[in-house]
Amino acid sequence: MPTEFMTECLDCGHRQPFAPLNTRCEKCGSEWMRAHYDYDALATTLPAVLPSRPFDLWRYHELLPVKAPRPEISMGEGGTPLLHLKRLGMMLKMPHIYFKDERQNPTSSFKDRQAAVTIAVLKEAGLTEMVVASTGNVAIAYAAYAARAGIKLWAFVTSLVPSEKMREIAIYGAQVIKVGGTYDETKRVAAEFARQRNLYLDKGARSLPTVEAMKTLAFEISEQITERLGAPGTGFPWRTPDWFVQAVSGALGPLGVYRGYEELHKMGFVTRPPKMALVQSAGCAPMVHAWQQNRREAEPVRLPRTHIATLATGDPGRVYTLLYDALKTHGGVMTDISDEDAFRAMHILAKMEGLSVEPATAVAVAGVIQLVREGVIRPSEVVVINGTGHTMPIESHILGKRWVRSVTLPQTEPRQDAPPTEGLKAALDTLVSREVPHIAIVDDHEPARILLRRVLQSLGEFTISEAGNGTEAIALAREEHPDLILLDLMMPETDGFQVIETLRADATTRDIPIIAVTAKALTPEEKRRLSGQIEKLLQKGEFLTDELLDEIRALLG
Ligand SMILES: *Cc1c(COP(=O)(O)O)cnc(C)c1O
Ligand SMILES: [Zn+2]
Repeated sequence: MPTEFMTECLDCGHRQPFAPLNTRCEKCGSEWMRAHYDYDALATTLPAVLPSRPFDLWRYHELLPVKAPRPEISMGEGGTPLLHLKRLGMMLKMPHIYFKDERQNPTSSFKDRQAAVTIAVLKEAGLTEMVVASTGNVAIAYAAYAARAGIKLWAFVTSLVPSEKMREIAIYGAQVIKVGGTYDETKRVAAEFARQRNLYLDKGARSLPTVEAMKTLAFEISEQITERLGAPGTGFPWRTPDWFVQAVSGALGPLGVYRGYEELHKMGFVTRPPKMALVQSAGCAPMVHAWQQNRREAEPVRLPRTHIATLATGDPGRVYTLLYDALKTHGGVMTDISDEDAFRAMHILAKMEGLSVEPATAVAVAGVIQLVREGVIRPSEVVVINGTGHTMPIESHILGKRWVRSVTLPQTEPRQDAPPTEGLKAALDTLVSREVPHIAIVDDHEPARILLRRVLQSLGEFTISEAGNGTEAIALAREEHPDLILLDLMMPETDGFQVIETLRADATTRDIPIIAVTAKALTPEEKRRLSGQIEKLLQKGEFLTDELLDEIRALLG
């Protein structure tokens, strides 16, 4: 990342460095910060380096809020194909309809972009837990990337999310919390939970990594359209499609795509952003209602009435206003589609083009069909549909019974940003017992520590500290007095044996239970040194056995 990366306040223009846990503008308190890079420098350096890079999301890493790509977390996100919808095009007499196949992301939706970038940001910041509220796909994407990165995820989902999707979140080891309320209420509960515990929360459009990640869609689409249709011949190297079409819920996708095009424009790569068609499900279309009445603010839909849970954001908040302004400047339209029309479009796309999509994506396809018929989209125009997603269900018998916890909201819970009532506080407290056991992991190998952390996190809720050598381990034990230490015996310099002897000789640390871990068989002399000093000796690789888990539970009482 260029050192010039800063965040810039949308309200007062103040610039400050980026800190994931504290993202408000330090000058005016606004939560609306955007990224700012050194566009002049990138305008000359990017064209030189791009041709030799793989076609994936990290191709544009200088324009992402990370210092460096994280190949160990990556699962091949981004770089999805741009498919020509030839038959649908013939039906509509539109030669240039394309489908950006975001189903081909690792968890089958474009939310993988958001998760990959955000998790990379958290890794760089050394954070190990996060919270998200979701209508399904965001949580699935985060659950997968969090698992890969050894980060604990608390996923708050509305009870409207299909149970197959909830199970998909759970299989990755995330804690699923089902909130008996709408998505907007679920977001509020998650926000309160994150605030109480000072955890990173994905706040949608107010989270900088989230919006930044979605820019990569704009970059990829322009490169791909240029490759297909040639440079526009206007002096700008990259082509912009005439239309970007997406089914929207919170409308993060379009917001990010706009940001991406603004940057491409600043760097002199494109002349303009595309027109946008934002399509909502008729049962939850607050943006469309406001748009049709030409209002700059949207009235929230209190009770969404759609079968398509993915699109059930009732309150788009400021994102609507930002998009309203963008569409008024650059052209575009907001429209809605009935669930029935969406299901019909699902069949058409699958049978004509071989593409099975989830209903939310079909909403966008149905939107294109409608807008072409109405003459809003003209036959010669180049249309790109964000083929946002397709999710495979995880069968119910694969998981045990205890993968979900529920929160019931008190009836009187106020909306918006009012302070939480006692009722909500009590509901959240039941999610997490106050007494969280504290476990210290000591190992000189970072991957080994991550593995153990992950195993423990999937077991239940723990506060986890880590030490990378014996000296740190002794200091940690004295300062934090953990309830249990998992100790690697073979470490350079102060090894596990010395750590044990030091802790046992010190009255303040004498009673901390220790599970020692060894990669090799011990000599009789080593066994003698351990005798009576530790609670248990384990071979490395034994971590995943139920025995270890039972042992830990027993030691923690
Ligand atoms: C998240 C999602 C949407 C809505 O995206 P936003 O840009 O956040 O409104 C649409 N379709 C699918 C499949 C999604 O996962
Ligand atoms: Zn400000």
